[in-house]
Amino acid sequence: MIADPTDLPTPDDVHAAAEILRGTAHRTPVLTSRLTDAELGASVLVKAENLQRTGSFKFRGAFHTLSRLGPRQRRAGVIAYSSGNHAQAVALAAQLLEVPATIVMPTDAPASKLAATRGYGAEVVAYDRYTEDRAAIAGDLAERRGLTLVPPYDHPHVIAGQGTAVWELLEDAGPLDALFVCLGGGGLLSGSLLAVQALAPGCAVFGVEPEAGDDGRQSLRAGRIVTIDQPRTIADGAATTFLGTRTFPIIAERVEDVLTVPDAALVEGMALFASRYKVLVEPTGALALAGLRAAVVADPQRFAGARIGVTISGGNVDLDRFAGLVGGA
Ligand SMILES: *Cc1c(COP(=O)(O)O)cnc(C)c1O
Repeated sequence: MIADPTDLPTPDDVHAAAEILRGTAHRTPVLTSRLTDAELGASVLVKAENLQRTGSFKFRGAFHTLSRLGPRQRRAGVIAYSSGNHAQAVALAAQLLEVPATIVMPTDAPASKLAATRGYGAEVVAYDRYTEDRAAIAGDLAERRGLTLVPPYDHPHVIAGQGTAVWELLEDAGPLDALFVCLGGGGLLSGSLLAVQALAPGCAVFGVEPEAGDDGRQSLRAGRIVTIDQPRTIADGAATTFLGTRTFPIIAERVEDVLTVPDAALVEGMALFASRYKVLVEPTGALALAGLRAAVVADPQRFAGARIGVTISGGNVDLDRFAGLVGGA
């Protein structure tokens, strides 16, 4: 099922979201590294959303969506389900806007994530991920309590909010020849495509997903949303099994291609971000850089001398896990 086109966000919606987020979301920096430029023979401009509030770009979509709720919806509250960055993003956005938030999280979610979500004042409802269906739990609670469900990617306001990261990148870094964006359910990629449509129409945009979770690539090839089994990858933020009914049509129409990278390339990317850019990046956050590096190896001439944007999507990784992955590389 594909969304009614009138329900799809537009470049103007991304622009409006950028105005709403101004002063609340961090305008994250654009990082560069002479070593990386020399290695790739291009000028690489990195939008560092690991330095965003709550540690990922998800804050943008969450805050934008909650700010567009009417007074009755705000009073009743919101609900979301996530074991990761969307949970913290909705919890903080709700706290800032004084909206009650309920987050459905697995009982075995990392203690740091449960604590962070509760720390923002959200009520956490725990479920067993092996025996219970989180969407059903959230749907049931939403109905009984009159809560508004905030989906992680398949929502026009979420997509428009996520697009503001690349909107800022294009404003701050100027025109780009190519842009690499990580791809899970497609909220960030579809929003980025709308920003590029408005500010850099000649820029070729590539989505990058984990090799084991290549539903986006399969969907692009098939011309319809393909659902895959739960992938095994260290890129937990992009371990989604299908694109959204709103993200897919935008991606299918405008993306240049969807690339895949193995987990080992993500570990290399995390190490490069730490050593060259001095930033802590979670495995999923390294997808775009890993995709760019693979694309340059595959066709060195294609990007020679180009100005290339890369998104870091998030930096939420426990130090033990970071050390375990990168220390062994
Ligand atoms: C959610 C998330 C993604 C994937 O974003 P989509 O909008 O679902 O494609 C990538 N990286 C990080 C760090 C995330 O939290």
